Amino acid sequence: MDTSMDAFASDASAAPTRALATEAVHAGRDDLAELGLHAPPLDLSTTYPSYDTRAEAARIDEFAATGARPDGPPVYARLDNPTTGRFETALARLEGTDSAVAFASGMAALSAVLLSRASLGLRHVVAVRPLYGCSDHLLNAGLLGTEVTWTDPAGVADAIRPDTGLVMVETPANPTLAEVDVRALAHACGSVPLLVDNTFATPVLQRPAELGARIVLHSATKYLGGHGDVMGGVVACDEEFARGLRQVRFATGGVLHPLAGYLLLRGLSTLPVRVRAASATAAELVRRLTVDPRIARVHYPRIGGAMVAFEVYGDPHDVIAGVRLITPAVSLGSVDTLIQHPASISHRIVDASDRRSGGISDRLLRMSVGLEDVEDLWRDLTQALSAGPVQAPRREPAARA
Ligand SMILES: *Cc1c(COP(=O)(O)O)cnc(C)c1O
Repeated sequence: MDTSMDAFASDASAAPTRALATEAVHAGRDDLAELGLHAPPLDLSTTYPSYDTRAEAARIDEFAATGARPDGPPVYARLDNPTTGRFETALARLEGTDSAVAFASGMAALSAVLLSRASLGLRHVVAVRPLYGCSDHLLNAGLLGTEVTWTDPAGVADAIRPDTGLVMVETPANPTLAEVDVRALAHACGSVPLLVDNTFATPVLQRPAELGARIVLHSATKYLGGHGDVMGGVVACDEEFARGLRQVRFATGGVLHPLAGYLLLRGLSTLPVRVRAASATAAELVRRLTVDPRIARVHYPRIGGAMVAFEVYGDPHDVIAGVRLITPAVSLGSVDTLIQHPASISHRIVDASDRRSGGISDRLLRMSVGLEDVEDLWRDLTQALSAGPVQAPRREPAARA
């Protein structure tokens, strides 16, 4: 791992450089001591009183014209929220961008990016497979009126058209952990914004904006929240792009709930230690899986991380049925270890032929390594890999009351 990533490289801004671990616990909280507080306040207001209608009208006009965060109270919770704003400020600091805009989920965040580009008449998207299953589906089905061209990183420059509004990649990608050279790709994109879904790497391992990506997207549901109990999405970008996203968010309503904003801000404070600890365990499991005769192939990215994917010689459904400590469930980035079968679950919505062209084998399993002890995880994994078809007797689901 590149230790220089520890030093938080800010751009030309005059702000003093603080290390990532310091930003993780302090960013978005700079005013708390002045307020006489230690924990950030949670503001659940849906509306805000104003006796000065002229001033409020001016603030609404200002937002409609610019998309800048309003000074003073937000008018209405769909426009802005101070608690969510703290999370946005902190995430922007961690990703090294001017701004960040939070949404109700990762998919709401991606939808807002696509709508913001389409509103300028830029409806064409160039994308590299694999992507998260629902992102693939959203683009491939053209649900938001966009049109997609799928290509590999080397084909991106040739796929760009006058109406291309976005180039989209994931690196490491869900679920194969395939990596893209972001710097080279950003160069190939020219003036077309490059979106990097940074959900798997997190800013702890990779800051795509420093490599030339204009837009960094997260499913905050995963590592940023980190405890499997909050759904959210966020886009880190320059302030000009953020203004367009805030206007789309206001008009379409995919806002993050303030309690989710509170939990995500809290999640960020432990992000560096969680990611580093889980990554160390993942790297050890990779070492053991690589020499295991039951494993056909292990996928693990050069930048490391807590996600591991592997192809089994046996039946992947038997492995899923055989785990006891590890939870068989979709999603990732929680404190506990999860495993799932992409061809059945996370990438089910992608056509089998498109899955194959994206390198997603039917024998691939994807594991999100948590914070358990490595020996306990290995014991569970190795017994599950030996599990035969009789291991997990099927039970009828209990009838619902
Ligand atoms: C989960 C995920 C998403 C979608 O995020 P939600 O919060 O579930 O809407 C997008 N990208 C990646 C890489 C993901 O893993």
